[in-house]
Amino acid sequence: MLMTSIWAATADPAPETPSLDAAAEADVAIVGAGYTGIAAALRLAAGGARVVVLDAGEPGAGASGRNGGQVIPGLKYDPDELAAFYGEAGVAFVGATADLVFDLVAAHGIACDAARGGWIQPTLKHAHLPKLHARAAQWAKRGAPVDILDAGATARLTGSAAFVGGWIDRRAGRLHPLNYMRGLLRAALGAGVRIHGFSRATGLRRAGGRWRLATSAGPEVTAAQVLIATNGYTDDLWPRLKQTVIPANSFQVATSPLDPAVLRRVLPEGSVVSDSRRVANYFRIGPGGRLMMGGRGSFAEPRTAADFAALGPAVAAFFPDLADVPLEFGWAGRIALTRDFLPHVHQPAPGITIALGYNGRGVALASALGTALGAHLLDPTAPLPLKLTDISPLPLHPLHRYYATAMIHYYRLRDRLER
Ligand SMILES: Cc1cc2nc3c(=O)[nH]c(=O)nc-3n(C[C@H](O)[C@H](O)[C@H](O)COP(=O)(O)OP(=O)(O)OC[C@H]3O[C@@H](n4cnc5c(N)ncnc54)[C@H](O)[C@@H]3O)c2cc1C
Repeated sequence: MLMTSIWAATADPAPETPSLDAAAEADVAIVGAGYTGIAAALRLAAGGARVVVLDAGEPGAGASGRNGGQVIPGLKYDPDELAAFYGEAGVAFVGATADLVFDLVAAHGIACDAARGGWIQPTLKHAHLPKLHARAAQWAKRGAPVDILDAGATARLTGSAAFVGGWIDRRAGRLHPLNYMRGLLRAALGAGVRIHGFSRATGLRRAGGRWRLATSAGPEVTAAQVLIATNGYTDDLWPRLKQTVIPANSFQVATSPLDPAVLRRVLPEGSVVSDSRRVANYFRIGPGGRLMMGGRGSFAEPRTAADFAALGPAVAAFFPDLADVPLEFGWAGRIALTRDFLPHVHQPAPGITIALGYNGRGVALASALGTALGAHLLDPTAPLPLKLTDISPLPLHPLHRYYATAMIHYYRLRDRLER
């Protein structure tokens, strides 16, 4: 198995984003060149702001360039629950996040195999059916194109006989996440945004009413406002921020190309899938007609094929006839889990905005929240779609690997005990 992502192996070349080589001035400095940071940069540049983006590594090499490419509107909460947190305007914002991604792709002509074949949330558990049906009904009540699927329809649309039913959200779709990312980077560069890779922001201090960012590259960036968009890769740049998230690894594999006859049966409409368990698997067809399977992995970075041992059995469980298909690619990336499983937006000091904590559902949400934050930084009267919260570190954060691992074992056990 190649220990690299299928996306890196099939992506268009990265645009030039040289490290910072001279002091820079900006209206807004953005830390983190993933979907959040670059969507915000694009919106800011469209409004005439001077923007400098810094990334610690290659822009897009965080979660945004290595995810499953499932463009799913919504969070892990049901719309009625979201309405209680954010009001109906917040539900409408979340529900429109996939539209925003496909609109960005069209507006900037990004070649990233974007297609809207829907997102299926099937279940292996009869006990989950009422909850899934209620979820679909709550979205349908708000006008979303969703359908409840019985066991037969689920089997036809997924190509797997393992499920007892589910629902489909037709607002959703798929794309090549690294090509989408690189398309956004190119669009931002074209709009005048300065993007510097391998330039970690190492310190932030207030001087003369502006923020000064020290960088690992040497020169400083001075800006009126700073957006920190570092999600699962958050470091110690802002006090206590790192302690608000658990940076968990999500692992993925891609098989060798499937036979055309198999591809006519497995996900024939190009849908993407994540099942309803607490510790779920997610899958889709990827480049070259490969089946891609993802799921939770260890906290350590993967080193050998053995670290992906859980994903082969997942392929076999859903598609017994594909049990022997070789796994050709394996990779991982960091998601940011929060205590309440909601994304967090903070403004802890004048001119500082922070957005993180997508809990593994950020392709659509990070793109949309970044865009909304860009509009808000241009015009502070533009409403934020999500509530501002205080930075509130998780108790016993240094022990998070232990208690998060225990929690995952507990959730797996509960998943197993359910029928
Ligand atoms: C394997 C995997 C599969 C996933 N699948 C899906 C999916 O199918 N659908 C979905 O909706 N979501 C999925 N996600 C989640 C989604 O990819 C993320 O929520 C989203 O990409 C987050 O974007 P971001 O811009 O906030 O963060 P990231 O893309 O992670 O970017 C953060 C950036 O911050 C940089 N950084 C950190 N500290 C500093 C610093 N001090 N100075 C400068 N730069 C810094 C990092 O180098 C990194 O590039 C998946 C995630 C993973 C890892």
